[in-house]
Amino acid sequence: MRLLSICVTAATLLGMPLAAQVVAKEPTPDVSGTLHLDSRAGTASAVLTHRFTMDSASSELRFVLNPGVRELRAECDLCATTTRDSVVGGLAIHTVRFRRALRPGERIALTTHHSAPLATFRDSVSGFTELALDDFWFPVRAPIGQHRFTSTIRVVTDTAGMRLAGSGTIRAMPDGWTLTSYGTAPDIALAVGSRLATWTGRARRTGMPLTVVARPEAEVVGRAVLGQVGAALGVLDSLLGPARAWDAAGVTVLLRPAGVARGRGGYSRTGYFVLPELADTNSYIAHVTHELAHGWWLGAERRHAWLDESLAEYTSVLAMRTLRSPAAADSMMAEKRRRVDGLPPLLGYDRDADRRIAPRMLYDKGPLLLAELHAIMGDEAFVRFLRAAARVRPRTTDALLAVLAETTYGDHATRFRAILAR
Ligand SMILES: [Zn+2]
Repeated sequence: MRLLSICVTAATLLGMPLAAQVVAKEPTPDVSGTLHLDSRAGTASAVLTHRFTMDSASSELRFVLNPGVRELRAECDLCATTTRDSVVGGLAIHTVRFRRALRPGERIALTTHHSAPLATFRDSVSGFTELALDDFWFPVRAPIGQHRFTSTIRVVTDTAGMRLAGSGTIRAMPDGWTLTSYGTAPDIALAVGSRLATWTGRARRTGMPLTVVARPEAEVVGRAVLGQVGAALGVLDSLLGPARAWDAAGVTVLLRPAGVARGRGGYSRTGYFVLPELADTNSYIAHVTHELAHGWWLGAERRHAWLDESLAEYTSVLAMRTLRSPAAADSMMAEKRRRVDGLPPLLGYDRDADRRIAPRMLYDKGPLLLAELHAIMGDEAFVRFLRAAARVRPRTTDALLAVLAETTYGDHATRFRAILAR
């Protein structure tokens, strides 16, 4: 799991001639527009309209974009100025200021124009261009008062023989594709290239489409990962009930050559995972299972992010007992125990206030505390609680404790709160 530096949200893939899945959701997407990939000019240019509801009063909105984007132009009724403020962590912040403070609950529609050299997103080893949340798209942690988003863009390219992988449902068009993503962030992640090979299958219990995309040279790895996705989904489905997070688009895994992409191990959107190509295909199963587990554990408030990550991680440890062996699962937990000394309580922990310890808090301490609860409750009651929580999708720790109180007898919720406070 730790090879993956980022665990966020959304998405699927398809090559040019492949299929259109029928998706009936929000008629008006929260994000819509066009992305032009212009090989002659060497640019990626996006015009996007963002429609959303403000969560809190704010007189500005910040977009966090790849530094290759020199300028963001924003248009809306209340838009005043836009400035490129600073570069933090390799990303540039563009601030759109409004003529007056927007009120909580106020709806806004805003159109942005931005562009960057294609070379910014392309690397010579993988041969494809990747665009993702942290690079090109939408404000991260915007004060937005909604939690499910539909994003639809037309991707237009002037280069023949290109294929597209992306976070969501993809429809081939004469000059490109339409890509529709659903997720907990207003986001689209995609990869475009002429050398993307595709291996597909279906989940056994749900029939959900499964796709792995990689360089043609990576066929052995690609097929191994496809098998692991199918196996892991089968175990998770029987543990938690069928996944809902990616019902429309299925699951797509994009493999990129190891060492590529500016030191990032990989990232994850709803049903769309980007992972490095690894020589040892056995090393995928724990990653893949963790990422798939986000099909159930997703959407917690940022301050309660431990819910999504620790539940996904502990669920994947439980699944590993079947996928690998009880000993493999035990050794994952033993490794976690070695990393938790001196950590503060999970209750009240704010990952933004202390980012340094976030991986150990979310991936090590949280699962260990869930294991403690599991030991107190026993298998049957714990699994009943997990399934109930997966249906409810608690967004806060209190909401999880409420599920625990409702689904079990005894004082489990009180005891678990005390465990979380340690
Ligand atoms: Zn995760």
